Amino acid sequence: MSVPKTQMAIVFDEDKGPLNYREIAVPTPKPNELLINVKYSGVCHTDIHVHAADWPVKNKLPLVGGHEGAGVVVGMGENVVGWKVGDLAGIKWLNGSCLSCEFCYNSNESNCAQADLSGCTHDGSFQQYATADAVQAARIPKGTDLAQVAPILCAGITVYKALKTAGLKAGEWVAISGAAGGLGSLAIQYAKAMGYRVLAIDGGEEKGEFCKSLGAEYFADFTKSKDLVEEIKTATEGGPHGAINVSVSEFAIRQSCEYVRSCGTVVLVGLPAEAKVVAPVFDAVVKSISIKGSYVGNRADSAEAIDFFARGLVKCPIKIVGLSELPKVFELLKAGQVLGRYVVDTSK
Ligand code: NAD
Ligand code: ZN
Repeated sequence: MSVPKTQMAIVFDEDKGPLNYREIAVPTPKPNELLINVKYSGVCHTDIHVHAADWPVKNKLPLVGGHEGAGVVVGMGENVVGWKVGDLAGIKWLNGSCLSCEFCYNSNESNCAQADLSGCTHDGSFQQYATADAVQAARIPKGTDLAQVAPILCAGITVYKALKTAGLKAGEWVAISGAAGGLGSLAIQYAKAMGYRVLAIDGGEEKGEFCKSLGAEYFADFTKSKDLVEEIKTATEGGPHGAINVSVSEFAIRQSCEYVRSCGTVVLVGLPAEAKVVAPVFDAVVKSISIKGSYVGNRADSAEAIDFFARGLVKCPIKIVGLSELPKVFELLKAGQVLGRYVVDTSK
């Protein structure tokens, strides 16, 4: 396969700086890395946080963002085993880890202190050719629609892992807060496929219809509800057994600690800048609730999440635009105007 010397990418030179669509060099894979011709990339709200430097993580600069890249292997470093040119591969947020610390030994690679992050500490998928550690790159089954699978590589894996973290039984209620967004729209479907009853929370009629079309049994509108906590407790006859927070709202997290059922689990996924979890200690103790953080997923979670998708149990509600239009997608995400996920086509 012939690989060009240069390619098109969206690059920013400083945090919060302009998102420039420009020609850059095609990277050379390190001995442990694949070179992937990225065909499509999902646009995650994390990409907004990275660009805005919302979190205590130092970005590589200049940076090519993006961490939901789906493409084809076109080359690899000399130490790579188990991959061949032509295989379909995915670029995930976790690009690589040390593989020799306590966390990596226990399959918690995303918690590794040396974790290398696509589109943050490592140039990501908003370019036509990207590198990924061959150990962490996702394996995508032959014949998969690469635009459709792209959002699974972060949003899908993350919500699947978050649902596992909630430790629910089939038939129990799960609330998804931020349900119409990229993560939420997949969380509704994974939750259904895992046998749970879904209460979706988001704002506005269009988002409500959308959540119901994906399988939510009840929609609670945070922009209209007079008492969201009571409404949710009533709809679920005592509160959901689990709450998955995928909104970018500190207040929504606080409410989830109030409406969750006794002995239930609040899962933190969304990462609003500088947010704190506030829960009344008396209630937390007497209701014996658990509050747990959940951060992407390991290789097994990734393979399982992709398998749900490959078996048709989860569909990605996507809109496809050219990579050059990424700045517009950033604006829509910031304004909360995205239903499901935008995916960029790197050829345009
Ligand atoms: P998104 O913008 O597509 O979706 C967010 C949704 O939340 C929107 O539909 C919005 O209307 C809704 N919302 C806003 N305020 C709300 C409120 N008070 N109550 C209920 N819903 C509300 O974002 P996304 O791409 O799905 O990402 C969501 C968050 O998850 C981001 O903070 C992102 O960084 C984070 N994330 C975390 C992980 C992880 O591993 N923990 C992985 C990926 C993304
Ligand atoms: Zn993401």
